[in-house]
Order: sequence, then structure tokens, then C-alpha cells
Amino acid sequence: MSLYEIPITKLSGIGEKRAALFRKLGIETVGNMISFYPRDYECWSDVTPIADAVPGERCVVRARVATPVNQTRLPGGRLMCKLRIGDDTGFLNLVYFNNRYISSMLRFGEEYLFMGKVAYDRYGRQMVSPEHRVAADADAITPIYNLTAGLNNHIMVRAAKEALSMLPDVLRDPLPYDILNRYQLCPLSYALQNIHFPSDMQAMEKARHRLVFEELLTLNLGMRMMKSRSQEDTAIHMPTDFTPEFVERLPFTLTGAQQRAVSECVADMRDKPSPMNRLIQGDVGSGKTAVCAALCYHTVKNGFQAAFMAPTEILAQQHFENFEKMFADTGMHIELLTGSMTAAEKRHARERIESGESDIVIGTHALLSESTVFRSLGCAITDEQHRFGVAQRARLASKGDHPHVLVLSATPIPRTLGLIIYGDLDITVIDELPPGRTPIETYFIGTDKRDRALGFVKKQVDEGRQAYIVCPLVEEGEGDLELQNANDYAAELMLGVFKDYPVGILHGKMKAKEKEKVMAQFASGEIAILVSTTVVEVGVDVKNATVMMVENADRFGLSTLHQLRGRVGRGKHKSYCILVSDHKGENTEQRLTTMCRTENGFEIADMDLKMRGPGDFFGNRQHGLPQLSIADFSDTETLAQSQEAAEFLLKISPDLSDDAMRLLRAKIKQLFRTTENTMN
Ligand code: ADP
Ligand code: MG
Repeated sequence: MSLYEIPITKLSGIGEKRAALFRKLGIETVGNMISFYPRDYECWSDVTPIADAVPGERCVVRARVATPVNQTRLPGGRLMCKLRIGDDTGFLNLVYFNNRYISSMLRFGEEYLFMGKVAYDRYGRQMVSPEHRVAADADAITPIYNLTAGLNNHIMVRAAKEALSMLPDVLRDPLPYDILNRYQLCPLSYALQNIHFPSDMQAMEKARHRLVFEELLTLNLGMRMMKSRSQEDTAIHMPTDFTPEFVERLPFTLTGAQQRAVSECVADMRDKPSPMNRLIQGDVGSGKTAVCAALCYHTVKNGFQAAFMAPTEILAQQHFENFEKMFADTGMHIELLTGSMTAAEKRHARERIESGESDIVIGTHALLSESTVFRSLGCAITDEQHRFGVAQRARLASKGDHPHVLVLSATPIPRTLGLIIYGDLDITVIDELPPGRTPIETYFIGTDKRDRALGFVKKQVDEGRQAYIVCPLVEEGEGDLELQNANDYAAELMLGVFKDYPVGILHGKMKAKEKEKVMAQFASGEIAILVSTTVVEVGVDVKNATVMMVENADRFGLSTLHQLRGRVGRGKHKSYCILVSDHKGENTEQRLTTMCRTENGFEIADMDLKMRGPGDFFGNRQHGLPQLSIADFSDTETLAQSQEAAEFLLKISPDLSDDAMRLLRAKIKQLFRTTENTMN
């Protein structure tokens, strides 16, 4: 019986109540516990002399208890224990609250290891509630797990230990022997033991490398199999190219790159035995919408419906208005379907979609709901695809009988990663911006120049323009004190420099309706200055906005800054991007001056990848892949190896039906089961 079939309650000390907490962490079975890897390790051997302990930083000291434990009751009944410890270099006060056991655990004169943060108080240096262990255990490495309220690390450690002890003596390895050998990977049993309880950090690295490899390989294989599955002979053929007559109608001429994208899609829809499955990758402002509009027109003229799904209400609304203009007097009916519409509005829209009265349907996730039924969906388009999961993309396509699928992304992805992330898609790159764009002037300044920058914003607003100011946080106390938060920042501006100007606030904690209202007010010009978090990042188009000012700019990935900057420079007015940061980190200056130097999204993405690694590059996992438990793409070497290994295995057995790959097949299934509903 697989450990994935044994419920977590079989472990000692885990009853129904506790099991519910484990479930919150995604752990339902003993097998899940084994693949719930530590997020970090505590290594107690790295001891700091008391004299060198830096206030505010976590450290381990090795010291003797120099006084008996002094217990006092505080007003309100709290128990406070105080004692003093010392090593050769100095003394430290320890304070514990409500811990009755301290006096029996810490013996006067004995030596212990203590781990905690050192702080200064009136009486000198102290640690509040440090963890401790006897000095003899200095070498042990403790795994640190992600927790949820009600579960502490100790419980997790115990569960992991017991779960590991239930592994059979001979463990079948999902990685075929050839692969283990070729890439010098350690066996599975060694890896599992040492990822949880490493004998030393080198063993942990070895274990980790193997598990990362295995996960990336699984992902690679899964994505490749998905691609081959979508290549069945089921395409809807659209023989006549109707795009030229639509392109005629546009108020501008398509760029060469846009034209090429249209032609590639039209060819896919006409000639291929399997449905189109294509990604259009084009920098912000490269005009992806017009390309899609042409393809929607083409689809309808060929006798089918088209769907265009956007990640936010604001974007869907914007596309809808845009399409209404572009399709005026074509006789085609454009439908909008979003979650915030009233129940009756939605019902009517759905009736028209089902009857076939609607030709082109633009909407949000509402399109995916079961009650949305298309009469004859011929082409399913997903905008800003990184906001959706692989499964959601598939769900939109499932609304038709093998419709053509097109996804759009403004996030330039370096090729190595593109292979995995879009393993299931053909790719078209729009590498040209429409003509006549004036470059956005970008400046990188310190906070000493902030007032001048705000003065500049004021001047722009006086000239009738609008501005965005982006802060890293929503409100105070979410993180570092030095970080600007949108609420306080906006309040300060409203009372200060901009007291006679309309200032608005936009952030992710607001309700969808409120956000939409603020965005609409900004779009109409009612709000002149919008203080926001990165929620403005996605696709919003306000042509009159000419300044993008970003506070604590060092906190953002370059790709995010690039997306933010893409919010301005969309109209005929000259636009500016002001990056504010006092951060003195080694990369900050180089990264931010890169932003000043170039507007090329691919160059910026490459730089970002080099300097911060893809973990940051992807921000909040906005790539639609299944949730990985250990790999994170930052190890490009392992990534490349896993790709090579995937190709090798598929050559031996194209559908992995080979018996040696049975366990790998199961792994793939398991990994992709977690895809559904993991995205917001
Ligand atoms: P994105 O690729 O970021 O989605 P959009 O499709 O929103 O870009 O296009 C950005 C702006 O450029 C829109 O206002 C659109 O009308 C305009 N545009 C698109 N294609 C062209 C073109 N070939 N010539 C001039 N303007 C264009
Ligand atoms: Mg767009």
C-alpha cells in the first residue's frame, strides 16, 4: 500500500482535530508529509560570541546560566522569568513570559545554546524567549517547516520523523537507473532522509538537488505530454482568410510583427490537423489586442463564436469598449460577461451566448462557470495568460469542441524557461512597437529629491495630465517600517502637496467593485493622481497618464517595473517614469540604471533573471504552472539537465508507457492534479 493512501491520522499524536490543521498545509496522508519538505534549517553550530551579537539579528550563543531564574508576577497575572547568561566575552539577560518550565529546564551553572534576537533595553542587552538546547546537541540540524496556526515546528518534526520511519526498506525509485547514473543523482531513500534530517549541509544539498531534478523532470514531461495530447486530428478548419477586410477598418496600419502574428494564426486555423495552440508574446503596448480582434472577426466570419478572457474586470471592460468601437457596423454582436454584473444581466448574456446571438464574448473568470455555454466556440483567447493557471486555460477551451486556442502574454520570458512554461504552446513573438511612440524618460532618484519629483507631478497635472504613484505596501506594519504604504502616502499627499487635487487610492485589499470604481474615475480623469500598489500593473490603458512614480523601487523586480512603466506613454503626450530609492544594495544601482537605459522588455527580463533569479522574476507565481514543492527555476543548470532528460526518456518511450516509467507517470499525474484552483 502506498504511503499516499495512509491518512495522516495514523501518525501518533495526530487526531482528527490536528489532521484538519495538517490538511490546511495540504498534508492529508503520510506520503504528503514525506513530500512536505522543510523551508529552511536551523544549524546550531554557528555560534556567535555574546560581544559580537548584532542587535536585531537572530543568532546562536553558547553560554552558562549565571544567575538563578527570577520569577515575578506582572500586573494582570502574567508570569515573567528573568535570568542572566554569560560567555567569555560578556553577559546577556534572558526574559521569558508565561513559561512555567524555564526554572526547571535551565540549571544554574550549566552551559546551553540559545537562539534568538538580541535587543537593547534599559538594563543592557537581552534576548526575549530564546529557544535553547543542551550544548552537546550543537551539531544537530533542525528542519524548519511552514506552519499554520495551531501547529508548531516541533509537531511537524515529530510527524516527519515518524512518516520517514514508515518508508519500506527497499524504496522503488521513480527515476530510471540510467537517469540517476547519468546525472549523478542520489537514490530516493537517501534524498528523503536527508532533505528532512540531513547529517550535514552537504548531504542536504545533494538530497535537494535530486528532488529538484525529479520535480523539474516531472514538470517537463507533463508539459510535453500535454502538447502531444493537443495534437489530435480534431481541428475546426477555417478555410477563408477574412482578416484583411478587418485590418482595413482599423484606424492604423498593423506593424510588420502584428501582421506576422495574424498570418501565423490564420495559417494554424486553416491548415493544421490539430487545433491552434499558440502563445503571442509581445511587450506592453505592442498591440496584441488588435491582433486578437482581427482573429475574432475571422472566426465569426467563418461561422463560429470567439471568446476573449481577461484577468480583471477593469481589463475586460476596457477590451469590451475597445471592441465595440472596432466592430461598429460589422453587424457582429459583442457580449460582456463579468462577475460584477447583476444576476439578471448575467443570465441574459448567457442566454445570448448559448443561442448563438452573441458572436464575440469578452469576460473574466465568469466565462469559465458551468452555466456559460457556447453554441459554437471556434476560438478561445486568454489575455495576460500568466494570471491564469494551465487548467483555467484548458477550461475555457473545453467550452467548445476543440476550438483554436490563443494566449497572450506581456511578460517576456527567457527561452530556457519558456520551454517549460509554454512547453505545450507554439510561440509567436511581437518584437516591434507601433510607430510614433516617444520613449518614456526614466529617472532614478534618492528620497532627497522626492519633493522635487512631486513638484514635477504637480506641474504635469496642472497641464491636464495624470499620474500614478506606486508604493510597495497597502498599509503600515505589513513589513519594514522604511517601506512606503499606499494608505499613509496618499493621506500625506492629500493633506500636503496635493491638497487641492483629486487623489485616489487603489490596492488589492479593496473589493472588486471599489477598485473598479476608482479605476473608472481615474480613466475618466476625475482622479488626477492615483496612489496604488502593483495592482495597476496589468494592462490598464489610460492614455492621459504621463507620470509613473515608484517608491522603494528597489523592492520590485525589473519585470514588474517594466510593466508598471508600460502604464504610461500610451497617448500623444511625453511620459516619464521616476524610480525612487535610497537602497544601497550592490545590485540596486545597476538594476535601476538598466531601467533608465532601455525599454526593451526582453533585455530587461534577461537582466532580471541574471540578477535576482526567476523566483523573484515570477513574483507571485504568476505563470500558471502547477505548484512546485521544492524546485524554483533558479537553478538553470538543473533546469537544462531536466529538459535533456525529458527528451531522452520520451525518445525511449514517447508516451512513457514503458514499465520502468510507471512511477514517473504517477508523479506527473500527482503534480498536475494540484494545478486546478491554485491561481487567484
Ligand atoms: P498590449 O499589447 O499591451 O495589449 P494594446 O493592444 O493595448 O497593447 O495596444 C496599445 C495601444 O496601441 C492601443 O491604444 C492600440 O490602439 C494602439 N495600437 C495597436 N496597434 C497599433 C498600430 N499598428 N499602430 C498604431 N497604434 C496601434
Ligand atoms: Mg493588453
